[in-house]
Amino acid sequence: MADLVRLAYYPFLPEVRDAVREVGPALPDLLAAPRYEGIRQRAMARIRGALTDKRIPPVTLLDERGALNELLSVPLARMLCVLVGDRGLVHRYATAEATRLEETLNQDPPSRPAMARHLGVVLDEGPDGTRIHFSDYLAVAPLHEPDWKLIVRPVARGWVPLSGPDVSRLCREALERRIQAELDEELGKPQPEELKAALADYLEQLKPELEQARSQWNTGDFGPVQTHLFPPCIVDIFERMKNGEMISHHARFAIASFLATIGMTADDIIDYFRAIPNFDPEKSRYQVTHIAGEQGVEKYTPPGCATMQTNGVCPLEKRDRLCAKIKHPLSYYRARIRFQKEDREKAAALAAQQATPGATAEVARG
Ligand code: SF4
Repeated sequence: MADLVRLAYYPFLPEVRDAVREVGPALPDLLAAPRYEGIRQRAMARIRGALTDKRIPPVTLLDERGALNELLSVPLARMLCVLVGDRGLVHRYATAEATRLEETLNQDPPSRPAMARHLGVVLDEGPDGTRIHFSDYLAVAPLHEPDWKLIVRPVARGWVPLSGPDVSRLCREALERRIQAELDEELGKPQPEELKAALADYLEQLKPELEQARSQWNTGDFGPVQTHLFPPCIVDIFERMKNGEMISHHARFAIASFLATIGMTADDIIDYFRAIPNFDPEKSRYQVTHIAGEQGVEKYTPPGCATMQTNGVCPLEKRDRLCAKIKHPLSYYRARIRFQKEDREKAAALAAQQATPGATAEVARG
């Protein structure tokens, strides 16, 4: 039998399937037998960890029995995600499992090359250490993160050097995409009724927990919407819509995802758009509710300034000095909220000072 304890830390390796088939219970028992309740609870814990903080709660694996339970909880958690049928949940679950892999690899560096091979991350062990060809790098690296942009990486003759933690991170990216793709495919298929019936109690528990967690998935508390503090790009898109101009898909996505992220609901966004002469609320409802995360998917994140520029929706001639200091329209909005708060605090302090007897003379002397 394979080393189950080691495999339990790498539940996505192909040899896991054979090991589990050899010693695991039959599916009906796994789904319903009281003696496997611990495995079902561990599957629920995986999903709950993904929902709340995109993390799989750690466990200490002491023996093969514990390892087998851990291994069996993974396919069960995947089944539950698919049966809940929520893309936002699938996305968070994939992230949580992949993050766990990264953390495990950082504690187990010798396993990195094999895991990279298994996940299709093509590495090369050169005389100066591990490296990846830039074309493979572009395919797998998290390029949206500042440290992973190719421009900040040294590239020598087409090769990008990688540290050990870099390799772990690329494995995480590859695993996240793999799980996401596999579960997305399952979401598109009808699921067996007997499976749904067997797991009905667990699915009932997960639904309200998903709703509760979803309400926390905003990217930050922006407070009440203040349109006069919007960045030039969002104002420009809105103005062009009001003038009846044709708006590109990129512009529509940018404005809807921006408004959704600062706390507007789909209904609020559609109300905001009512000022536009030829805006068709019914036609837009599907698109807006989708972007605002009200159709079972996680809310979309609005694009950053670089993407806005590439997509032709950053009005270069209308950018201001604050634009030069930020990299995301949300940062612009957040900064202007902060400036407004600071200005109000200063004004209040000055008013309080002037209301204090003798303060006028102090100010005049000052
Ligand atoms: S620089 Fe950024 S915030 Fe400013 S207008 Fe362009 S996209 Fe908007």
